[in-house]
Amino acid sequence: MIGPRKPKPHIDGFVFDLDGTVYLGDHALPGAVAGITQLREMGKQTLFVSNKPLEPREVYAAKLTRLGIPTDPEQVITSAHVLGRYLARTEPHLRLYVVGEANLIAELRRHGLTVVEELEDQDPKQVIIPHDIDAVVVAFDRTLDYRKLNTAYQALLGGARFFATNGDKMCPMPGGGIPDAGATIAALEHITGRRVELLAGKPSTLILQEAMDLLRLTPDRCMMVGDRLETDMRMGQQAGMITAVVLTGASGREDVARMTPPLDFVIESLSELPALIA
Ligand SMILES: [Mg+2]
Repeated sequence: MIGPRKPKPHIDGFVFDLDGTVYLGDHALPGAVAGITQLREMGKQTLFVSNKPLEPREVYAAKLTRLGIPTDPEQVITSAHVLGRYLARTEPHLRLYVVGEANLIAELRRHGLTVVEELEDQDPKQVIIPHDIDAVVVAFDRTLDYRKLNTAYQALLGGARFFATNGDKMCPMPGGGIPDAGATIAALEHITGRRVELLAGKPSTLILQEAMDLLRLTPDRCMMVGDRLETDMRMGQQAGMITAVVLTGASGREDVARMTPPLDFVIESLSELPALIA
């Protein structure tokens, strides 16, 4: 980095975004394995965060392990996991209606939360009476249908709480992208006039608060490493962490230069991380 010499931060824990930061598709990005391995050899903790509520932590841990970064499920947090942990701690008695896929429902139940079944006895083409629903949870849901939309709509009109795993508008896919939770949140906000009250994933700082909780570290001892400025980096700044953007994903140098307040570090690859702190 050019500029006045800053004292090197004392960092004990690194929180990594995954896509565009550690890997792209099925390949580790250049320098990622070496950088993370070296940080671990220095005794640093590493944690990985994903906004996707579609798969359990074990799946991400297995993928990282396969790519040469041996990882336990406990070192991964997803938006579904964060929402489950948070609701179990703060609102354990709410009966949840989930606009989401099987993994999210299982994750919430694993945290001891109550997820109501679909109201299959009611006609989805009529006004559904949202029995026993205290809160609606919206997520990335590739099984979204009119019954779910109608049920969530009626529950929200009736005053149910309004939570979501993540706010991404679309999920990048080979050849383009597909509608993500943000699309469903916007639809429900539009038709009910309500606003989602809690987002568990990025860019909400809740996911980083959970990360620091797991690491047992204060924000000044943590570095957020990611490729997206408006999610990874903004949320890292808001959480009070040291921030490092890696230019292997969504952001280029020109985007980074426009960011205010400026980020702490800009790196070409994760292999540069050990030198930033040693
Ligand atoms: Mg990313």
